Amino acid sequence: MAKYVVLLGSPGAGKGTQADILTKETGLAHISTGDLFREHIAQKTELGILAQSLMDKGEFVPDDLTIAMVKERISRADCEQGVILDGFPRNPVQADATKLMLNAMGSSVSVVPYIIVPEDVLIQRLSGRWTCRNSGHVYHTMFSPPEKEGICDLCGAELYQRVDDTVETVKKRLRIYMERTSPLIDYYRKQGKLVEIEGDQPIDSVTKDLLATLKK
Ligand code: AMP
Repeated sequence: MAKYVVLLGSPGAGKGTQADILTKETGLAHISTGDLFREHIAQKTELGILAQSLMDKGEFVPDDLTIAMVKERISRADCEQGVILDGFPRNPVQADATKLMLNAMGSSVSVVPYIIVPEDVLIQRLSGRWTCRNSGHVYHTMFSPPEKEGICDLCGAELYQRVDDTVETVKKRLRIYMERTSPLIDYYRKQGKLVEIEGDQPIDSVTKDLLATLKK
């Protein structure tokens, strides 16, 4: 049976990093709405042009556009075994849409790991983050620097700092997360699907805890 995992956690909690690893370990597809929007921006699509101005300010892209984008992505063949949703759903409207979307596929959300990281650590993590333009791999100036400054170890492409990873925008994104996304913690807890994961530990320890949760 297909598995649908919703990874919860604030920006900087490590959702993207962990989802990349879990995808390799489990064969589930990784759907990151942030990455999908960044692809639209790179391709200069209509959605990308709209998303860019909102994302740069740390604001959300409208629900209807975001939901339609996920619906299309989740219907593709590589999602047959299930998916890891990263950055979606991000508010109660999107959570209800997720339920409807999966019900229509004869399924439902399987489990919701919630990666918990203290706010001071989040700010430190996000403001030192550098991303590869080509592979999307994420580095950190202090915790996981690339071998050569500004260059991706994996593919040699250039690294860049996301416009929304500057300190002011990071603080705004964390505020918006608290207001709009944190209600999902109770939403999934009430359904008995939430599993709390300690996120302020080494990457491989977090992966181990997540894999144990997914196996249950
Ligand atoms: P992320 O890569 O998950 O940190 O997302 C980066 C930005 O993309 C967010 O700050 C939002 O502007 C936008 N975004 C990503 N996912 C969503 C979503 N589910 N709903 C609305 N906007 C989103």
